[in-house]
Amino acid sequence: MRSALAALAAAALAAATPARAFVRTTAERTGKPLAWRFPVVPWHVNRDWPATSPSCRPTPAGDPTLDALRASFAQWEQPCANLELPYAGEVPELHTGDGGSYENVVVFRRGWCSQHDQAKLDPCMSDPDVDCGGIYGCFEDSTDCIGQTSCPLDWGIVALTSVLYDPSSGRILDADIELNGWDGVAGNIGSPPQHGWYFTCYPGAGTAQPQATCNRYGEPTAGQPDCASMDLQNTVTHEVGHFVGLRHPCTTDRNREPDLPSCGAGVPAGAVPFADRTMSPTTDVLETKKRHLSPDDLAGLCAIYPEPGGCGCGGGQGAGAVSLLAVLLALRPRRRR
Ligand SMILES: [Zn+2]
Repeated sequence: MRSALAALAAAALAAATPARAFVRTTAERTGKPLAWRFPVVPWHVNRDWPATSPSCRPTPAGDPTLDALRASFAQWEQPCANLELPYAGEVPELHTGDGGSYENVVVFRRGWCSQHDQAKLDPCMSDPDVDCGGIYGCFEDSTDCIGQTSCPLDWGIVALTSVLYDPSSGRILDADIELNGWDGVAGNIGSPPQHGWYFTCYPGAGTAQPQATCNRYGEPTAGQPDCASMDLQNTVTHEVGHFVGLRHPCTTDRNREPDLPSCGAGVPAGAVPFADRTMSPTTDVLETKKRHLSPDDLAGLCAIYPEPGGCGCGGGQGAGAVSLLAVLLALRPRRRR
C-alpha cells in the first residue's frame, strides 16, 4: 500500500479480470486467478523491530503490535469464507518473495536501504538476485534514492506484499508482508518520510486516537502534518487482502494498469466508493477505515473461498487446523534457488 501522495503499490502480478465490485489478482501470462489451495494458511512474524511508537511496545498488559496483526488477519476470516489464517509464531526470517522461505511472514523493515549506511554501498542494491532487505532489514528501494532527502515514488510505499504462485494453476505458494517502518534516524519526517513510516498501534478503530506524541524527537503530536504516522492495523488489513489473492479495485496510474478503473472515477449504484474499500490502493496518515472490510472486499473474499454448504466443522476445528497445517508443510515446493 502506498501513501496517498504516491501512486500504486504492492502485489503487482496481474492481468485483466471482469469489472466487478472486487478484483482478484491473476497470474501473468496464464491469467489464472490466485488463491490458496488449502483453507488453513498460517502466518509468522519477524519481531526484529524496535517498536519506536510507544503505542506498539509490549507491556505486561499485552502486546499491541501482535494484537494489531492478529486483528488484521482475523478480519479476513469470515463466516462466508472457507479460510482460516492462524498465527504460527515468531521466526527469524527476513527474506521475502522468492528469495525467502516458504513460511508466510510479516516483516518489519527499518527504513529504506538507500539511507542505510552499509546497504547503500552494497552491490545488493543493484543486483536483482540479492535481497538487501534480507541482509540489512531495510526496505530495498531504488539506487536513485541514494543520497536523496526525498524520493516520493519509492518512499510512498507504506507496505508491500509479495505473492509467489504457480502460474499454471494460480495456486499461491508463499506470501510475505513487508512493513516499511521507521529506522530511528532523524531526517525528513514529511510524507513520504526519509527514514520509513512511523507505525502506531492505537486500539479502537473509528474513535479519535489519543494525543500521544509522535515521539520521533518528542515532537509533533500524532495527527499533526509532520507526524507521518500510519495505523498498523489499517495497513496490515489491506496487505492481507493481497495475501489472500485480491488486487486493488482501482488504480492511480492508468498508464501502468490500463485494465483498472481510475480511483477518481465513480462506481455503479450500490457499489462501495473506491476510497472506502479496504483494498483501495492508497492510504493516509492516521487512517483506520481499512481495518474493517467493506461489503465489496467481503464479496471478493467469499468469491475466492466459498464456504461449502453444510460444513459441519464446528467441533474439531483445532485438530483440523493442525493436521491441515502438516499437509501444507509436507507439500511445500522446493526452493528454486
Ligand atoms: Zn495494495
